[in-house]
Amino acid sequence: MSDLIQPLDEHNLRHLANVHPSAYVNPTPKARYHLVVIGAGPGGLVAAAAGAALGARVALIEKHLMGGDCLNVGCVPSKAVIRAARAWHEARHGAALFGAPAATGPGDFGAVMERMRRLRADMSRVDSVARFTGLGVDVFIGTGRFASPDTIEVGGARLNFRRAVIATGARPALLPMPGLAEAAPLTNETIFWLTTLPRRLLVIGAGPIGCEMAQAFARFGSQVTLANRGGRILPREDYDAAGIVEEAMLKDGVDLRLGSTFVEVRREGADRILVLERGGHRETIAADAILVAAGRSPNVEELGCDAAGVAKCARGVVVDDRLRTTNPRIYAIGDVCSQHQFTHAADAHARMVVQNALFFGGAKVSRLVMPWCTYTSPEIAHVGMHAADAAKAGLEVDTITVPLEELDRAILDDANEGFVRVHLKKGTDRILGATLVAGHAGDMIGELALAITAGTGLGAVAGTIHPYPTQGEITRKAADAWRRTKLTPSVKRLFAAWFRLVS
Ligand SMILES: Cc1cc2nc3c(=O)[nH]c(=O)nc-3n(C[C@H](O)[C@H](O)[C@H](O)COP(=O)(O)OP(=O)(O)OC[C@H]3O[C@@H](n4cnc5c(N)ncnc54)[C@H](O)[C@@H]3O)c2cc1C
Repeated sequence: MSDLIQPLDEHNLRHLANVHPSAYVNPTPKARYHLVVIGAGPGGLVAAAAGAALGARVALIEKHLMGGDCLNVGCVPSKAVIRAARAWHEARHGAALFGAPAATGPGDFGAVMERMRRLRADMSRVDSVARFTGLGVDVFIGTGRFASPDTIEVGGARLNFRRAVIATGARPALLPMPGLAEAAPLTNETIFWLTTLPRRLLVIGAGPIGCEMAQAFARFGSQVTLANRGGRILPREDYDAAGIVEEAMLKDGVDLRLGSTFVEVRREGADRILVLERGGHRETIAADAILVAAGRSPNVEELGCDAAGVAKCARGVVVDDRLRTTNPRIYAIGDVCSQHQFTHAADAHARMVVQNALFFGGAKVSRLVMPWCTYTSPEIAHVGMHAADAAKAGLEVDTITVPLEELDRAILDDANEGFVRVHLKKGTDRILGATLVAGHAGDMIGELALAITAGTGLGAVAGTIHPYPTQGEITRKAADAWRRTKLTPSVKRLFAAWFRLVS
């Protein structure tokens, strides 16, 4: 148990009782399943629950913890920690900004992590073995491995299937750097085990996980250094959006070492020393703990893909637009096959695959409109194309950018660093993509995702009344800005003629 989760306090024991109950005995397999799902992360859970709800005979196999990365070592614990970091930040700055009572003292990091464990245990009931067996799913705890194109072995049992879904997710990628493994670095699988705050934390990797954790730990008072090979943080995001978050991280005290070539890590007593080169100079960073957040590797090694005729590639399992693998009986969903490694992507894939695998569905990944969000302060949320994607697709765009400074609520909230940027198909109001940078950008991007999905265009957003004063008004302001572009000189001349007529 202790290799799955730590510390083994009351919350984690309650959590384990839900997601990996020690006394659980696997059921006797049915003669044949309509659907066998390997991996009980968000993708696998949704596929299994949906299949069972439709009346299919479903088996679900999980080797570690039901709930997968999202519940156990990903979204849930990270967002609990980020929420606490925001509270600490506001407490520290509340006196200067709002005349709030001054907060002093180091804070209680142990309480932050205990709150996270308590909430995670509360939430784990929804993903529990008991709930899924109650839904009529045969849950098997163990490692699933294909024995043939239509059978899977788990814990000595053989499960025959009509259709199978691979939902085995991904794990933190290891960096081939001399001395790193010996320095026992943390990853997302172990950072949430911490009960005391590292005085100095070195984060390697400036993607979403690295940036979210670096900023949160800096706000708790760790001395955080973020080292990255690339020359900028969040390279998949809009350049200006990432620039705003970079500024915010610097303000929070994160020491950014971008454009680094990593040389080695060595131990000196309790210290971990990273040696890197930047701009022709050698630098050393001493830390009490290292967090590696430098990419993800798909979980395919234990699957026995060859026995089932399932082809693999660097990204994981090879799938077509309908998420079917090279074995037409077997589908794959979520992080193990997707360029979009998000819980909501795994969820959307699962819903598609239930249609495609159990019925004659034609749902396609290429039709999905996939928003995402990085939960730094401010958040960056995005949906659809960036300008560069549109250029690659040969599409000309009109781009509208409205800064948060123009929004009353952002000014009143003292949260006016950010913007909305909308790319429209040139000469039309059709939204190709949008980026939002704001305190709660993730909560605001849904409106633009809906507009793209429903094909309503920015004109419909302009015609939608938004309550005042809210940060959500920023999308309507972008729509108003687009409307103003319709006031061409000839339209203005036409209006002028009208007013002359009616005066
Ligand atoms: C720190 C962090 C923060 C994140 N934050 C967010 C966020 O805020 N929002 C968001 O949308 N996404 C976030 N993500 C990403 C999100 O967690 C993943 O995209 C999501 O969990 C993928 O779901 P999945 O079902 O594909 O795989 P997973 O959640 O990885 O689940 C796969 C499951 O398969 C099991 N498994 C693997 N091999 C086998 C086998 N052979 N037999 C049986 N079982 C097996 C694993 O044990 C695991 O439980 C975050 C990830 C991390 C690491």
